[in-house]
Amino acid sequence: MPLATLQQQIAAAAGPARNVRLLAVSKLQPASAVAALAAQGQQAFGENYVQEAAAKIAELAALGLEWHLIGHLQSNKAELAAQVFDWVQTLDRPKLVSALAQHRPAARGALNVLIQVNIDDEDSKHGCQPDEIPALAAAIAAQPQLRLRGLMAIPAPFPDAARRLSALARMKALFDTLAATHPQADTLSMGMSADFAEAIAAGSTMVRVGSALFGPRPTP
Ligand SMILES: *Cc1c(COP(=O)(O)O)cnc(C)c1O
Repeated sequence: MPLATLQQQIAAAAGPARNVRLLAVSKLQPASAVAALAAQGQQAFGENYVQEAAAKIAELAALGLEWHLIGHLQSNKAELAAQVFDWVQTLDRPKLVSALAQHRPAARGALNVLIQVNIDDEDSKHGCQPDEIPALAAAIAAQPQLRLRGLMAIPAPFPDAARRLSALARMKALFDTLAATHPQADTLSMGMSADFAEAIAAGSTMVRVGSALFGPRPTP
């Protein structure tokens, strides 16, 4: 759908009192598609693969866009990720805290990070367990090169709405608990093309939308 239509749907779901950010998920989309959306005013883009993103980020550097890593981060890609991204949304283990902090170039300022939570405890998904959040948050807060901004989740796409809403509500509760001790945590990243309105109703502050915006992804 056109960017303006999506923006209207997000605003309608959020209501007048809340501002929900849109992250345009551009994985596997060419740099030209990103540039076209940027020309319409979209500022923040999400990428899943560090190397693909690094090339796009370099190509589009003149546009001054904000880039988020939303794909699983292998430790051996942490150095490049810390150099090229503005946000890493998929921090899910202690090893990444030190790797990202160590490699963040001082000139780039602190790297914004979200802790990814495996909220439905799926074997196929990355992310920490809910009870691991406090220790990870403390480790991040101890690193001046990192700024803890909140939580991210990819809830399971259960056909049963009650099960989907349960995961979203549990994430909102975890986020509120985190923000009570880490007031700089202002971002709850959940909601994709299929469920962004539901996620916003449950308290999401950032939705990550790909196919609804760009159309089907090209196959790699
Ligand atoms: C691909 C992806 C999205 C976007 O998915 P769509 O269904 O195309 O909107 C959002 N978040 C993550 C983590 C993704 O990998």
